[in-house]
Amino acid sequence: MNMDVPVICAYCKQETTPTREHVIPAFLYRFQKELESNVVGWNEVAEKMIGGEQTVRDVCQICNGLKLSLLDDYGKKLLTENCILKQNYDKLSLDFNHNYEFLARWLLKISFNSSRTDNAHAHLFEKFIPFMLDGKNPPAKNEIVIIGSLAAPLLVDELQGDYEVFRGLAGACGRINPFFVRIGYGPNNFKSYTLRIVMFGPLLFSILMFMPGTSAGVASIETKQLLKQLLPEGALLSSKRSRALLKPGKATWVDYYGAQVTRVRAIEALKMR
Ligand SMILES: [Zn+2]
Repeated sequence: MNMDVPVICAYCKQETTPTREHVIPAFLYRFQKELESNVVGWNEVAEKMIGGEQTVRDVCQICNGLKLSLLDDYGKKLLTENCILKQNYDKLSLDFNHNYEFLARWLLKISFNSSRTDNAHAHLFEKFIPFMLDGKNPPAKNEIVIIGSLAAPLLVDELQGDYEVFRGLAGACGRINPFFVRIGYGPNNFKSYTLRIVMFGPLLFSILMFMPGTSAGVASIETKQLLKQLLPEGALLSSKRSRALLKPGKATWVDYYGAQVTRVRAIEALKMR
């Protein structure tokens, strides 16, 4: 797209000369590049796992530079303070300390940007734009539910094929859980919601976006079913709490990040275990 041609900003809907906004926040993209330079052979594996650097060019300077970049600042602080921003996460749990409102705004923003690159679900995000930009009208639990969980590590001896390149990341405990980022969506067979996925390293966020008109009761039942059937280790995040103890289930980072080449359907890995 020619940068000089005005477009309508995806957020404030004003006509604007667009700026370039990374789908994967720039600090995460830079972090992945560092990891790539430290692991010989990482690039070939990563190409298959995460794909290239996607950007969107339909965001104005005010939305991008003043509002959305604040959410990336929060995200960077969040991942740093929770010790997620490391090459290899070798712990078996995470005491996840967070501000639910900022986390939800950041995840929705990232997911919305990604959804505009493939037109998958962009329309679902429209009503949450005031929330993403300014924290206005926080979504109710029959609109958005966010579940946190962790991808399980592998032991060094369990690495096979292409993944052998990560061997050198192992510390004394021998666990490997390298840092990738994945933004996408889950299977589309849920009756009342669309499942969007955002992953940073081992940290998996499952975002349930309920269809308009879904009652609080149905939303609650469907949330419990997802937890029971697909994510028994998952923790329901809430504006009432700032901490959640996250533990890995059976699905490993290879299940989440490894299976697909082009399109992102991370959580389908869960169905195969
Ligand atoms: Zn704008």
